[in-house]
Amino acid sequence: MSDVLGYRDGQLCLESVSLAQLAATTTTPFYCYSHHAITKAYQTLQQATAQKNVHIHYAVKACSNLAVLKLLHQLGAGMDIVSQGEMQRCLAAGIKGEAIIFSGVGKTDDEIAFALHHHIHRFNVESLPELAAINRVAAKLGVTAPIALRINPDIDAKTHAKITTGKKDNKFGIGWDGVENAYRQASRLPHLRPMGLTMHIGSQITEAAPFRHAFARMEVIVSRLRQQGHRITEVGLGGGLGIAYNPAQPPDIQGYGTAVQETANRLACRVELEPGRFLVGEAGILVTRVLYVKQGTEKKFLIVDAAMNDLLRPTLYEAHHPMLAVTQPLDNKQETYDVVGPICETGDYLALNRTLPALAAGDLLAVTHAGAYGAAMASTYNSRPLIAEILVKGETFSTIRPMVSVAQQLAWEKIPDWL
Ligand SMILES: *Cc1c(COP(=O)(O)O)cnc(C)c1O
Repeated sequence: MSDVLGYRDGQLCLESVSLAQLAATTTTPFYCYSHHAITKAYQTLQQATAQKNVHIHYAVKACSNLAVLKLLHQLGAGMDIVSQGEMQRCLAAGIKGEAIIFSGVGKTDDEIAFALHHHIHRFNVESLPELAAINRVAAKLGVTAPIALRINPDIDAKTHAKITTGKKDNKFGIGWDGVENAYRQASRLPHLRPMGLTMHIGSQITEAAPFRHAFARMEVIVSRLRQQGHRITEVGLGGGLGIAYNPAQPPDIQGYGTAVQETANRLACRVELEPGRFLVGEAGILVTRVLYVKQGTEKKFLIVDAAMNDLLRPTLYEAHHPMLAVTQPLDNKQETYDVVGPICETGDYLALNRTLPALAAGDLLAVTHAGAYGAAMASTYNSRPLIAEILVKGETFSTIRPMVSVAQQLAWEKIPDWL
């Protein structure tokens, strides 16, 4: 991040664009993303995992703006989606079905049909009833659906409970003991073409060890299936690589990369990674303005114009997002604040007990590392607008989603004529 975010003439700049200058023309709060940071994250991951048979599929849900999808596709990424809506986004960004993998535990018949119609590369299947559903929909359309089974390797990724997905009590994947049986069933269904296995053990994992353990389990089960005569040609190793929300806990990119490369070599088939956060997380900034500084009985509150509907991660995941004053502080005066939004919820905060340069009403604050699961998780709670997104490249910037105003949202609604 530091090579794209820094002070120039006392003003915080993303690449060569001053955030204060952006805030002068865009209603705060807003998100902005660095083209260079996304590009660099992609290249870093690609270099760390470089093997001929390793393919990167971006997990669209992390940040699903069309411009971000197009940029990552230009860099060479395929896509990993979890809904028909995300597939529609990919198609709108000019990405073909063949480059898209459909993950997720709850695909509907309509979603399956839509994906088959657009020649989806593969479905990652998470249960026996889903196998049956895909077989049935494919039969109706007279096609064969390429699938992989998502296994649950029962690995503790040592991350936040709400983002661990590879333990046996999670809803995700097919339990370790049921994989061989499920694969046998899949290979008997006439409208399915089983290609292999996938897994995804969780998110914001900064150490290599959980990945190594999970990959080792994957190798075991793949060789068992191969011994049973199944042709395994594609294996998904999931996403989950973390970013340095906390500079003291950076992700072990090299350790992860080595683990991927070694596993990919031993598997000797097409291997996919599904990173979301790592590719876009550090590239995004939420810019917000201080509305009030409020002295409570015990605490000082920085009441800002961004809220939990704009960035849910602090309250949902107890996530830490670094923050910087947009105008470089001239002195060392610091204060400890709860940084809170205007929403009527105690959980509406961006940071608790955060020591920051002393700020005043009207000052701008940059919430960093907000590119992943930021705008993508935003809602209109409290009838707030969906805030703008801006893409910055060098000195150039463009609004890649204008603010969706409350007036526009009202047009979505209808009062019945009998009322
Ligand atoms: C969310 C998700 C990802 C991406 O996770 P990150 O932690 O953002 O890399 C990858 N694969 C699947 C199946 C997911 O659900």
